[in-house]
Amino acid sequence: MTETDDIMRDDEFEAVVQQAFLDAFPNPDRTGCPSDEVLRLLAANKSPVNDEANAHVAQCSPCARKILAFREEIRKRRQTRWLWTAAAACLTVSLSLGVYRQFASVRNVRPDEHNAPSVVVATLDFSKEFPETRRASEAPPEIQKIPANSEELLITLPGGSPTGEYEVQIRPEGDLEKPAKAFSGSASTQLDGSIMLRVALDGPLHGGTYAANWRGEGEQFWHSAAFTSIP
Ligand SMILES: [Zn+2]
Repeated sequence: MTETDDIMRDDEFEAVVQQAFLDAFPNPDRTGCPSDEVLRLLAANKSPVNDEANAHVAQCSPCARKILAFREEIRKRRQTRWLWTAAAACLTVSLSLGVYRQFASVRNVRPDEHNAPSVVVATLDFSKEFPETRRASEAPPEIQKIPANSEELLITLPGGSPTGEYEVQIRPEGDLEKPAKAFSGSASTQLDGSIMLRVALDGPLHGGTYAANWRGEGEQFWHSAAFTSIP
């Protein structure tokens, strides 16, 4: 018997039980009452469900009350079992998302002690960095922070950015003396429609504010946005 069958029968069953209450058959002598064992089986919709017992319960308020109590017990047990199953499922999902989160949603990625990734990945969302990519009422986003030991950057580019190969430069902001570090990366469209540029860094950054500059293949001009590296 499936859980769905149980639920459908629950409704029918409750109607029968309720009928007994409505009709109020007191049966003080408990004439013809089945044993608790049978009532439990009835409450659980477990076979053998004999028509005789069903018919009796429909005409016996004490039995009906017992069945309701048994069913309440069963419901609580099921609920507990369901909660445990749900909790276990959540745990599994969060464990498997642990790695994915590094790539998808966390701006500041710290090495996770319990699930240490081999690469420290930081994400930067520059999708709203430029005035034309946000509504007039929206304030410019705050400068984003990444850990200085980041080994890989995942940069969400403004919508409409081309996919494909990119030149990327990272330069301490306001310090044109220091040479920019040059990288290459590639951008692809994510499931949510955003354009994500992946760049492997070649070593830790110092703490401070940097300009990230990027230019897609065939683009004439560089785009630039600032971020802060936190040691
Ligand atoms: Zn009875």
